[in-house]
Amino acid sequence: MTESTVRIGLVLPDVMGTYGDGGNALVLRQRLRLRGYDAEVVEITLADPVPESLDIYTLGGAEDSAQRLATRHLQRYPGLQQAAAKGTPVLAICAAIQVLGQWYETSTGERVDGVGMIDVTTAPQAKRAIGEVTTAPLLAGLSAALTGFENHRGGTKLGGDATGLARVTRGIGNGVGDGLEGVVQGSVIGTYMHGPALARNPELADLLLARALGVAELAPLPMPEVEQLRRERLRA
Ligand code: GLN
Repeated sequence: MTESTVRIGLVLPDVMGTYGDGGNALVLRQRLRLRGYDAEVVEITLADPVPESLDIYTLGGAEDSAQRLATRHLQRYPGLQQAAAKGTPVLAICAAIQVLGQWYETSTGERVDGVGMIDVTTAPQAKRAIGEVTTAPLLAGLSAALTGFENHRGGTKLGGDATGLARVTRGIGNGVGDGLEGVVQGSVIGTYMHGPALARNPELADLLLARALGVAELAPLPMPEVEQLRRERLRA
């Protein structure tokens, strides 16, 4: 590792990482390496304090009990909050949206204080949202449809400081009747899309990387197999 190595924080993969969400960190690393950057994934587990010095962070989904362990750890070691406050990009998948929010209710109805980084609250809905989700992005810099697989019981309501990542065209998304999927607040982007999300949505990966590198945009990488997969998912 050198001074210029881009360091990607994979936060709590030991408790947060359903459906291969750890793959998001690998996608970021690979897209950087293909462009000639040195890049490393730094795994931060429950045994480690959370550093605030990394260049970008990703967090995956989890079941309620694992989600609670992660919440406690992030409250105890506020490196992620400090990094986001400096503008470092953070990608939060599914349960991670709930953990980074103000509070969430578990499926047994218990309310747990979140990390408080984003203005969202989450409560269980009558019906589990499960299946493919497709959306039209609302975030500037994204134009292609976003696709992923969702599986969550929690429905997430956005407060005044947060905006939706995208508008749902198929599937459930945040699940509170506003037609939105995901959340954007400052440098934090959250989504219910597993898949992993960045393997399925290269434009979102490159938007995060451009922010991490402090450049306006990155030239696209031609990857026919990714495009083929996207076409299949959009048709299915
Ligand atoms: N436990 C949360 C819910 O069901 C998140 C699930 C997930 O990350 N897949 O809402």
